[in-house]
Amino acid sequence: MTGSTNFSTHNSEKLFAKAKSVIPGGVNSPVRAFNSVGGTPSFIKRAEGAYLYDEDDNAYIDYVGSWGPMILGHNHPAILEAVINTAQRGLSFGAPTEIEITMAEKVRELVPSMESLRMVSSGTEATMSAIRLARGFTGRDKILKFEGCYHGHADSLLVKAGSGALTLGVPNSPGIPADFAKHTLTVSYNNLDEVKEIFTKYPDQIACIIVEPVLGNMNCIPPVEGFLKGLRDVCDEYSSVLIFDEVMTGFRVALGGAQAHYDIKPDLTTLGKVIGGGMPVGAFGGKKAIMDFIAPVGPVYQAGTLSGNPLAMAAGLASLTELAKGNKHKQLSAATEKLAMGLKAAADRHGVDLNINYVGGMFGFFFTSDETPITTFEQVMACDSEKFKHFFHLMLEQGVYLAPSAFETGFVSMAHSDEIIEKTLEAAAKCFAQL
Ligand code: PMP
Repeated sequence: MTGSTNFSTHNSEKLFAKAKSVIPGGVNSPVRAFNSVGGTPSFIKRAEGAYLYDEDDNAYIDYVGSWGPMILGHNHPAILEAVINTAQRGLSFGAPTEIEITMAEKVRELVPSMESLRMVSSGTEATMSAIRLARGFTGRDKILKFEGCYHGHADSLLVKAGSGALTLGVPNSPGIPADFAKHTLTVSYNNLDEVKEIFTKYPDQIACIIVEPVLGNMNCIPPVEGFLKGLRDVCDEYSSVLIFDEVMTGFRVALGGAQAHYDIKPDLTTLGKVIGGGMPVGAFGGKKAIMDFIAPVGPVYQAGTLSGNPLAMAAGLASLTELAKGNKHKQLSAATEKLAMGLKAAADRHGVDLNINYVGGMFGFFFTSDETPITTFEQVMACDSEKFKHFFHLMLEQGVYLAPSAFETGFVSMAHSDEIIEKTLEAAAKCFAQL
């Protein structure tokens, strides 16, 4: 299956050339274009379980999982069935449906800090809406985010952003008025002193702190001991809203997200990816007293033609229902640990300097001789990006699909069996030998 000697990119190359003539960069989301690693992006034809299949019939073990949603593996039968059954009754009504209640109740059951919540259609919409709500609720303009964190592409959040913005070298995107960006304060991730200092400077002007409780958009950086608790305390002290952006970590780091894993309760939570099971879904929610500021109950406006779309709700509900069965996250964490430890051991055997982070179903590897835990933006930026590019392409040819950027976390799914992880490690060993 994988590691085929027939690796070809012929059809993907043809499609990429055609795509570029009609779609900017040939892609509908920038990192997909392989800009930072070079070469031709694989055009995907279908996916099943832990595998992706491209238009040249290459098979890949997939560690991107559509950038997070496919935690149960691709084409999961329960999700497929829910979507097909729901589609037969109509695709969108623009009126309330019962499944939206069931879905909201399910989310609240799994993430109890979300006393009340609203569905949207993407992670970007979720964070953008949560920020507006925090501003409306507190009557303050400034927000605090961390360098290298990505919270979607809303204007106030594309300041020192991670993910594709960092990969493409535009952490501060043109097109955002300086007058607007000046309300976004940024400090270093995992640095509580900087957070306290900035609150001392603007004690009654910061509406919220928004944070990725595990940073997945600057490779994978877990919070250092005491960091999230420190943010909670600062927000309590200055009556600022604490927003956990769990678009990536939600239902992944643990069934109840990073807030369950680290036992810290935010005021608001944003969700995306896993919550839609592969359909376009996001959600934001939290303390009822804050959520009641949203229209039509409150004055802060927020809306969406396709919000709570029946197909999206059916896929999301099926996904969350499956995830909640048995002790799936224990298995996911074990698979991720096996992968991370195996990669490190293989790199050591071949004399390649590698540092690894992992939490729940997220992992990140760093080509660096720095043997201390990787916890800062500076450490990530100091890694060997040329070595990453080389490794990325060697792995692709061996049939392993990694995120095409050194600034993205890797995702493991429930479909990554022991055997599949072993295959990945065999491929990685061959690639390390060639670095
Ligand atoms: N927040 C985080 C933490 C994310 O990782 C992402 C996307 N990778 C977003 C928000 C934006 O989500 P979307 O791409 O669905 O708009």
